[in-house]
Amino acid sequence: MTPENTTSPGKDFIRTRIAEDLDSNKISKVHTRFPPEPNGYLHLGHAKSICLNFGVAQEFAGQCNLRFDDTNPTKEDIEYVNAIREDVRWLGGDWGDREFHASDYFDKLYAYAEQLIRMGKAYVDDLSADEIRETRGTLTVPGKNSPFRDRSIEENLDLFHRMRAGEFPDGAKVLRAKIDMSSPNIVMRDPTIYRIRHADHQRTGSAWCIYPLYDFAHCLSDSIEGITHSLCTLEFVNNRELYDWVLETLGVYHPKQIEFARLNLTYTILSKRKLIQLVKEAYVKGWDDPRMPTLCGLRRKGVPPEALHDFCNRIGLARADSTVEYALLEFCIREYLNAHTPRLMAVLDPIKVVIENYPEGETEYFDMPLYPDDDSFGKRQVPFSRELWIERDDFRQDPPKKFHRLYPGNEVRLRYAYLLKCNEAIYNPDGSLKELRCRYDPASRGGQSPDGRKVKGTIHWVSKQHAIPATIRLYEQLFAVPDPDNVEPGHTFLENINKDSLKEVVAYLEPALNEQKVGTTVQFERVGYFCKDPDSTPDRPVFNRTATLRDSWSKISQKQ
Ligand code: ATP
Ligand code: MG
Repeated sequence: MTPENTTSPGKDFIRTRIAEDLDSNKISKVHTRFPPEPNGYLHLGHAKSICLNFGVAQEFAGQCNLRFDDTNPTKEDIEYVNAIREDVRWLGGDWGDREFHASDYFDKLYAYAEQLIRMGKAYVDDLSADEIRETRGTLTVPGKNSPFRDRSIEENLDLFHRMRAGEFPDGAKVLRAKIDMSSPNIVMRDPTIYRIRHADHQRTGSAWCIYPLYDFAHCLSDSIEGITHSLCTLEFVNNRELYDWVLETLGVYHPKQIEFARLNLTYTILSKRKLIQLVKEAYVKGWDDPRMPTLCGLRRKGVPPEALHDFCNRIGLARADSTVEYALLEFCIREYLNAHTPRLMAVLDPIKVVIENYPEGETEYFDMPLYPDDDSFGKRQVPFSRELWIERDDFRQDPPKKFHRLYPGNEVRLRYAYLLKCNEAIYNPDGSLKELRCRYDPASRGGQSPDGRKVKGTIHWVSKQHAIPATIRLYEQLFAVPDPDNVEPGHTFLENINKDSLKEVVAYLEPALNEQKVGTTVQFERVGYFCKDPDSTPDRPVFNRTATLRDSWSKISQKQ
């Protein structure tokens, strides 16, 4: 889980704890699990949990299970199960043959619930969900006992069996743990552990019409699987007491729950419920829209899994919630791509150059390295001819000081090709720039200065006759503000959507760029990182911008 060229995780409080438990022989082997609920696609927050759970298993020569926490049939879907498998695998998570589902344990969980009833530790309650909420009390007011709390064990067993047999409609009854309605921890005030749902489950079909709740299913699934450290996010701190109560009361193997801070990221929403809304209400094109913080969205955008590992290692683990700058993620993406992607040429905002002293109809080819000064990336052939595209921004009629690119009378280097001097700019009647008339130095093949004269600027170019037009999708943040969830009452995060998060332009590519496979990320030299999109057709490639070259994170970290 820790590929080369990324930072390795430091000893955080969880790794320290695991090392202690191994040293003191409390455990002989660490066993973790990643427990997604298949009710949506995985996002960056899950990446943190995946890197942690699979990461510690690998570092301490242990194991990590993939467990689907599928106890809510109405929200879950096989589409999500398949997507989760693919995403975890993409991040390098290896669960061997240990893919489990909470639904694998429905029989066992049912038997445990019966056991609690027989111990006098659970009862069937006829109160509605609203009534249960109303009698639960508050932080300062204790809850009230349900009038059904003192049913006999026989009556409870009978009613629970009839719940299972389908005799009662949804919501008519629940099974509650009998703990303490005046506990200072509200979670412990007779929590519901089973409810009736006449709904088909994506795996068990219509076999069940009662389903266990998270707090009952999760701890027992951990116990059944022999998990040693059950790592979860901070919102479960209060649930730990219940986690411990269930396992202690039943007298079964008892993993340790340890909480860590969840990932929050600026300009980003990391809540499955809200991400579903963005997809269903078509604010984005789908779960894998490159603007989404989902793992499939990041993959389609061109983000390599190694960058996410690096990111997760850099943010570390803490016990207190905080928010990470999105720029740090971009920094990690650039760091990796800078060292690992080939560099080719594309012109995104083209202006035509005519080389007046280059023969018409002639084409010559340059062998260019795919990575400067590193032959291991290989080479490609790049055609050169009389008319080229260059970036509009690489020309100025009236250059500011220190502008070393093209302006009338100035000479630049065309990357790896020739020295080129601008004679004149031609304008359209409306005043817009039409083309640049230039001359090249035939003695400068390869871009070398033949007589030692200094040429400061180097620009990229594409031969007009050979250029491949491409659709380029330029993405910005999906949200216009750093904290999109922070809204006044009566408003929603949707109002913070950035209306300009996607801009499409037509660019001209050198031919070798069209030979890239879908899903490959490359650098467009001097422009940014781009990934070939599955929407590409043989004659019309589509590229997504993965990241710009500009590094805003180093500026931010310098300020700090
Ligand atoms: P959401 O709040 O987006 O619905 P969830 O916590 O309900 O997410 P699960 O599928 O239950 O999603 O999560 C699987 C695992 O991933 C859990 O262990 C959970 O704690 C962890 N996880 C989810 N979101 C984050 C996050 N933002 N940072 C770290 N871990 C997370
Ligand atoms: Mg959850």
